[in-house]
Amino acid sequence: MVPASISSLVVMALIGSIAWPAQAWVIPVLWVVSGAVVLIPAFDSLLARRLFSMREPSARDLQRLEPAWQSVCRTAGVNPDRYRLWIEGSQGLNAFAAGGRTVAVTRRALELPPPMLEAVLAHELGHHVHGHARVSLLGWWYSLPARGAILLVGLVAKGILAVGRSFSRHGGAAVALASVLLVLLLAAAVVFLNPWLLLIPVMAPVMAAVARAGEYRADQAAASLGYGVALQDLLKGWVAGSGGEKRTWRARVLASHPAAVDRVRRLRG
Ligand SMILES: [Zn+2]
Repeated sequence: MVPASISSLVVMALIGSIAWPAQAWVIPVLWVVSGAVVLIPAFDSLLARRLFSMREPSARDLQRLEPAWQSVCRTAGVNPDRYRLWIEGSQGLNAFAAGGRTVAVTRRALELPPPMLEAVLAHELGHHVHGHARVSLLGWWYSLPARGAILLVGLVAKGILAVGRSFSRHGGAAVALASVLLVLLLAAAVVFLNPWLLLIPVMAPVMAAVARAGEYRADQAAASLGYGVALQDLLKGWVAGSGGEKRTWRARVLASHPAAVDRVRRLRG
């Protein structure tokens, strides 16, 4: 996350020096401090609702979810009220740990037999206990300016190329060539101002590998609480149900989650 955060800092420093040249340090420093804001509990709820479109569990959802969550927390010696339970709206079988205290499951996960639902929740608790959810929230927050800058530069480049294309259709080859040169110049300026941006795509496989290590770690946390067998059964059922997982090497390198068969193998170990 370091390259993304440094490129964001460079973006904020540029904004600071343009918006308030006399006190150029104020905006980047405020932005660095803003990381503390995302760790307050109210921000968790805001993200769950607005960004992830999660909703509060109904009384019926809670009948299944709450006993399972309390059982997991009792086993782990963790206060269940520290965390907030949510329902995520997607169709598949899934669960999420986000921010400092968000734990969410899909409706399909609620249909699981209690030991498997507990195993899923134990995995999510593992993400929280080992700090994965907090760190990825902070990483996401600190990468926003860099990603915003990439988006903006991409849009400007597309606009310039579109103008160049429309001129080339009407015989204006010189304008078309100028638009390509302008985009190359823009790219060179961006690289000169913020070379760290170049590292972001390079870091993608590293980030994915770290995320996969986090998944194994959360599985291990669930297993250490006694949910290893239930989690293996769930993953095996998943593999059988989907007819096995076939992923290209590129998908494997960039996947944030290990293949279910690999997770089963590790859990067995
Ligand atoms: Zn996970």
